[in-house]
Amino acid sequence: MARKSAKGASRAATDGRTKPGCAGCPALCCHDLVMPIPKPKDRADVEELKWDLQYDTVRVFITSHRWHRLIEGRCIYLTRRNLCRIYKDRPQRCRRHNPPDCEHYGEYWDVMLNTPEELEAYLDKEKRRRLARRRKR
Ligand code: SF4
Ligand code: SF4
Repeated sequence: MARKSAKGASRAATDGRTKPGCAGCPALCCHDLVMPIPKPKDRADVEELKWDLQYDTVRVFITSHRWHRLIEGRCIYLTRRNLCRIYKDRPQRCRRHNPPDCEHYGEYWDVMLNTPEELEAYLDKEKRRRLARRRKR
């Protein structure tokens, strides 16, 4: 299992043959499960998220102010040659995922949080930013 490194996320629609932009990509988007999550609104939410981040296969990222949980893994329909075994019947979510709006073409997140400590540090920083903005008004 991959460790917490910068790697692909999200579900994809590719068999490496039918989408020109996918050529040469090891189906990064067929690895890792990504799900939208609500932004933590109170201490209880933060504690829940910290608990998730204790696992070395879990990360949280924020993109365009939207929060996501990422769980490292590999789709069971991805073959050893990184082809989709059920390409014709693949889920809608896989069909919607297209290059170049994907991990193969660069970072897709604004903030990546790997550990409970990084989450706390990020929230602290955001709190300080908000306070500084309020003081300026
Ligand atoms: S179903 Fe196919 S396209 Fe979708 S994530 Fe799995 S291998 Fe990729
Ligand atoms: S990550 Fe992008 S380039 Fe790679 S297979 Fe998925 S959609 Fe294609």
